[in-house]
Amino acid sequence: MAVIVRNMQVVHSDIVAAARKAGRDPAEIRLLAVSKSFGADAVIEAAQAGQHAFGENYLQEALDKMTAVRAAQPTICSTLEWHFIGPIQSNKTRPIAEHFDWVHSIEREKIAQRLSQQRPADLPPLNVCLQVNISGEASKSGVPAEQAPALAHAIAALPGLRLRGLMAIPEPAATFEQQSEPFRKVRLLFERLRAEGLALDCLSMGMSADMAAAIAEGATMVRIGTAIFGERNYDK
Ligand SMILES: *Cc1c(COP(=O)(O)O)cnc(C)c1O
Repeated sequence: MAVIVRNMQVVHSDIVAAARKAGRDPAEIRLLAVSKSFGADAVIEAAQAGQHAFGENYLQEALDKMTAVRAAQPTICSTLEWHFIGPIQSNKTRPIAEHFDWVHSIEREKIAQRLSQQRPADLPPLNVCLQVNISGEASKSGVPAEQAPALAHAIAALPGLRLRGLMAIPEPAATFEQQSEPFRKVRLLFERLRAEGLALDCLSMGMSADMAAAIAEGATMVRIGTAIFGERNYDK
């Protein structure tokens, strides 16, 4: 059996196991396949095995891949959902607003306003998550947790966007307990924002190395690259 298909089966059974261990319904957890650095063939193979949502970090790479998938498999292409998960430069917002279904990496109001204004009127609002910097390091992406509530309320008011939740990329950590701590902080922030009246339903957290800890802390979408597609050619 092809490697990607077999890897996807393993990831699905790991999600089920992690959910059951946490007393959660595995159906609450969506799998985002992070296809950065892999080509259209890999996306098509995963899609043919039932994968629906794909995550990309680099705009030009993603647009080229969408074009190639569409050319090779137009029917499959029309069913796919594309998620932008990388840093966003303000001069790149228009193609993101035009070609993606979701953006996980919003960290500034200015970027959110541009995406809202540039979202084509014939498409549904762009689903977005606020990226939170939970480790508090100046070098890391994401809005500091203290500033997240004000930014979340501002984004929720933008007509071209639909604020779905929070995304976080904690520092790599060795043990399950160390991995869990930042995810717990993100979940508490998520619960606070919901208590403040925001209709959030997405906690985008967990990657290949820390998926089980993220699920134990309430992740509703895990972003998995390496465990599905293998080691990347570049590392970003
Ligand atoms: C690359 C990437 C992933 C996937 O990471 P893996 O460790 O390969 O599973 C998830 N989220 C973001 C934001 C990424 O950039």
